[in-house]
Order: sequence, then C-alpha cells, then structure tokens
Amino acid sequence: MNQNLYRSIHDLLQPAGRILLVTHVAPDGDAIGSLLGLGWLLKTEGKELTLACEDRVPGAYTWLPGSAEIVQRGKGSYDLIISLDCNDRHRMGQVVDDRLAGAPLLNIDHHVTNTRFGTVNWVEPLAVATSQMVLELADASGWPLTESAATCLLNGLVTDTRSFRTSNVDTAAMRAVLRLMEAGAPLAEISRRALDERSLASVRLWGQAIERLQLEDGILWTEVTRAMRRQWSSNEDESSGLANFLVGVHEAKMVIVFAEKDDGTVDVSLRAVPHYNVADVAVRLGGGGHPLAAGCTLQEDLPRARERVLAEARQALAEQQG
Ligand code: AMP
Ligand code: MN
Ligand code: MN
Repeated sequence: MNQNLYRSIHDLLQPAGRILLVTHVAPDGDAIGSLLGLGWLLKTEGKELTLACEDRVPGAYTWLPGSAEIVQRGKGSYDLIISLDCNDRHRMGQVVDDRLAGAPLLNIDHHVTNTRFGTVNWVEPLAVATSQMVLELADASGWPLTESAATCLLNGLVTDTRSFRTSNVDTAAMRAVLRLMEAGAPLAEISRRALDERSLASVRLWGQAIERLQLEDGILWTEVTRAMRRQWSSNEDESSGLANFLVGVHEAKMVIVFAEKDDGTVDVSLRAVPHYNVADVAVRLGGGGHPLAAGCTLQEDLPRARERVLAEARQALAEQQG
C-alpha cells in the first residue's frame, strides 16, 4: 500500500463513527474471514460497527469468533461503508440499497476484475486474499492483532489458496501466515474445518454430479440441480469445492460447475488450469474472479445458462490455445 492510498483510507476511517462492513453474497471463507477480521480490528479502535452479508454464513465458518454478529441488512445510517472481497457493486447484494448509496465507500478487494466502484478503491490483485490486505492495513496502521482477528484472517488466506496450493501463493502470503500464526491463529483447525470436513449428504450430492460429468475438448463440466439438492437436503454452498476438486482431472483445461439455486437462478463456478484463463469468461457473463477461479450468476434457467456459458468457454479456450 503506498503512502497516498494509506492517507486516503485513513481520511475516510478516522472521522467515521458508525461503519457498515459488507462482504459479498454467497460468501466464501475469504468473504467471512476479511469481514470478521476487519470487524475485530476496528472494534479495538473503538468504532461502532455493523457487519453484514446478504446470505447466511456457511456452516464451515460459523465457528469463527464473531460470526453470530453478522446481520443480513444494515440499520439506520452510516458514516462509511467498507466493502470486502466484492469485485463489483452488485456483489454487495441488497445490503447497500438506494438509501445507503450516497455514503462514502471504501472498496477493499483483490480481484483483477474489480470495477473500482468505491470512493476510495484499494485493489490488490497480487494479494492471495482480501484477508491478507486487511492484515496489511492493520500492520500499516499499528492496530494490535488479536487472536480472534488473526483466526478470521487466516481463514481467508487458507480458503482462497486452498491451503496454499494456488499458483499465486508467494513469500508475502507466507509471511502473512506466519504473522497470523504468531498471533494465535490455529492453522490446522482452520484447514480441517474449511477444507476437509463435509456432510455425508454433500459427498453423495458430489457423487451424483460426478456421474453427470461431461468432457468436451478440454472443458469438463457438470451440474447440481435443485432436485438433486432436495434429494440430499443439501444447501447452496457446496459447489465451489466440487469445481476445485475437478480441476485436478488430467483431461481438464477448464472446469464448469452449474449450480441451480432455490430462486431458479444459476451460480456458475469456473476453474482453469495454469496457462488458461476463466476470469474473462466470467466477466463476459456479468461475473468476475481471478484468472484460474472465477464465477457468475445467471438469471435464467439451467439449460439456457449451460448453453451460453459453454459457448463462451469454448470460444475462450479456442482463443487461448491459438
Ligand atoms: P467460486 O467458484 O464460487 O468459488 O468463485 C470463484 C471466484 O469467482 C471467487 O473469487 C469469486 O469471488 C468469483 N465469483 C464467483 N461468483 C461470482 C459472481 N456471481 N460474480 C462475480 N464474481 C464471482
Ligand atoms: Mn470471495
Ligand atoms: Mn477473496
């Protein structure tokens, strides 16, 4: 973070008494980790905070300290809104409605596809997680790092890197891990809870999705329908783990998992192996993400979504191979 940015961030933070922290819909481990982590840090600084996310906290993260305090909507007015891990304004969902749209907004994010929708935009595509940026802000600001804050932030680094296996993991990320562990964050427990533990029902659901796998010229894809989820009483947050698993298949260059949500829209998880790129595919479909892991949500039925996404992926793959 350069000096100018640091100053702009603190010019927003210092006078703000009531702050709304918001993370993205369908939250992942970095969304919840950076939200709670910054929450703990600012609480120590004496700010009055609301932590909000439109969708409920996935079961794998409800053990994180403070998770019960996350609400689905803000209340009243705020001096400042801070968005975390949101690559565009829409990712905040209804939390930031028209009523709040006028408040100053600090956008903290690591997506290369970030649309810079804030009053101040701190976008760091080289950070492995938004949680890493929150740690950097804490260190630059001289905020004390508590065990609770460190635990939440490490959860973000562990999940966005799938336990430090992604190609963007560098020494800066590992230095951040060291800092967080020294502050008391339990690495093994975080990894187990976030990445290893799952319900039997979700494994059966994955089994069904794996049976439906299709491979077309390097594009490996499958789907999780509402009917499948109903059969296993499974909720909506299981499909990104499946996409991560499938991208290890030797024959795959890109992976697509279509997940039909309860409201009939379709969540699409995209993955690429190194040298290919799915971020552009996601952006063309109204979503975003990183070169090797991206996603979008389509307001149309599954067959239509499948057709459109596969067409974009085929075209991108052809261009990238050419
Ligand atoms: P997922 O497949 O849900 O694990 O998401 C992979 C990456 O794509 C994450 O970095 C997300 O932030 C991003 N992403 C997923 N869904 C969307 C979406 N609907 N809009 C924008 N970005 C998304
Ligand atoms: Mn995220
Ligand atoms: Mn992230």
